Amino acid sequence: MGEKSTLICDTCQEEMKEFEVQFTYLNKFFRHKVLRCPVCGQVYLPEELVEGRMSEVEKSLEDK
Ligand SMILES: [Zn+2]
Repeated sequence: MGEKSTLICDTCQEEMKEFEVQFTYLNKFFRHKVLRCPVCGQVYLPEELVEGRMSEVEKSLEDK
């Protein structure tokens, strides 16, 4: 935890910067920090992060 990874945008060869995104899923509101290219705006979303979050939500719904 707390480690910083640096990613370079394939298109621009620019270092991607941390950016907070907000999204909703199943009527729930989330915030998450992702890496985004400051030049073209491409966002890097690790698949495992998305899937992990989604399964967390589904699990909490099942518990009710
Ligand atoms: Zn870019």
